[in-house]
Amino acid sequence: EKISSNELISLENQYGAHNYHPLPVVLNRGEGVFVWDVEGKKYYDFLSAYSAVNQGHCHPKIINALVNQAQTLTLTSRAFYNDKLGNYEQFITQLFGFDKVLPMNTGAEAVETAIKICRKWAYEKKGIPEHEAIIVVCENNFHGRTTTIISFSNDENARKNFGPYTAGFVKIAYDDVTAFKTILESSKNIAGILVEPIQGEAGVYVPANDYLMQIKELCNQHNVLFIADEIQTGIARTGSLLAVCGDCNCEAQCERQDTYATPDILILGKAVSGGVYPVSAVLANDAIMNVIKPGQHGSTFGGNPLAAAVATAALEVVADEKLAQNARRLGKLFRAKLNDYIQSSSIVSLVRGKGLLNAIVINDSEESSTAWDICMKLAENGLLAKPTHGNIIRFAPPLVMTEEQLLECVSIIIQTLKEF
Ligand code: PLP
Repeated sequence: EKISSNELISLENQYGAHNYHPLPVVLNRGEGVFVWDVEGKKYYDFLSAYSAVNQGHCHPKIINALVNQAQTLTLTSRAFYNDKLGNYEQFITQLFGFDKVLPMNTGAEAVETAIKICRKWAYEKKGIPEHEAIIVVCENNFHGRTTTIISFSNDENARKNFGPYTAGFVKIAYDDVTAFKTILESSKNIAGILVEPIQGEAGVYVPANDYLMQIKELCNQHNVLFIADEIQTGIARTGSLLAVCGDCNCEAQCERQDTYATPDILILGKAVSGGVYPVSAVLANDAIMNVIKPGQHGSTFGGNPLAAAVATAALEVVADEKLAQNARRLGKLFRAKLNDYIQSSSIVSLVRGKGLLNAIVINDSEESSTAWDICMKLAENGLLAKPTHGNIIRFAPPLVMTEEQLLECVSIIIQTLKEF
């Protein structure tokens, strides 16, 4: 017997911790750019599980890899070797141009991993006195939810009453090269800078074109590690394989040094698996990664054969289907169409983004915004999106979308905005 959306929502309310505030839509099926609710209503997915489902829901090639591997071997732990991990490690390091990868499961775990590697490198290679390494982070960052990561968040809701906080982080303004220069000149103990190439959760803030290159330059000059958190921006989302690739249009790391702000440590998650299985990865060259020795970091599930098989297939899909090029082309079209519309609208003050990571800013305040009501109306009209930070609505559909589908979505969005 079918259970209704309302009943399923009540179950979650009663038995689940209230750590999310979901839109009241209960989904039970997904395919490509579409999801369906339990009453059978079809929606365009314009969130892609926070950019994890870049390859589209239930991509047959990825699901096939999952099923085949699930029937063969799922988990050995790293107490033993398995026959999938080495091949995957070779593939992902060659794709992104690094010597080594450290496989983990979730985004926050990968960020924690990068922080640990950076600190250990600082003490053992750079010679910073123990316990004194500082990692620079940016105002309004989002890197996850663990105790250390929320220690350097400035979202009070994410932080308050979770202290005492982890020390060793300093915040500077995002997209501000001078602020970074100043802090580098004021301390010898800077080990690294952790940056989102585009701030996603903060509301899709795209920095100046040369920001990442300049950060990278300063890192080189001061022997400081440039740590790029591409968990949300990576895997073709912003119109190139990585957002740090800048305007390079290829599907793989190609050493185009004129646009590619090569990170010393690259953090990936979400779409590494196409949203099929939790897979994250931290990539670095030997001079950095080799500071980690047996017993110093790990995870029961990290690098399991199921994860390796799924991630390999998911990354192959990105190249096979030219998802970066598609995201780049459709992103331009999307922003052009919405920018046209907002000339004659008072409800939207701004459209911004890169590739298919975009946002609109609703012309009211963060504290009391109609953004939630707009998202409710969008859902009614067959498109799922969610406000981030009050009056900002993020639009991030799967990258397998066609131009025709995108144009239909643009018209749903514009029709909906006209109702306000
Ligand atoms: N870093 C960035 C830039 C993210 O967008 C996210 C998730 O939204 C994370 C880290 C955390 O990833 P996870 O939720 O898998 O822990």
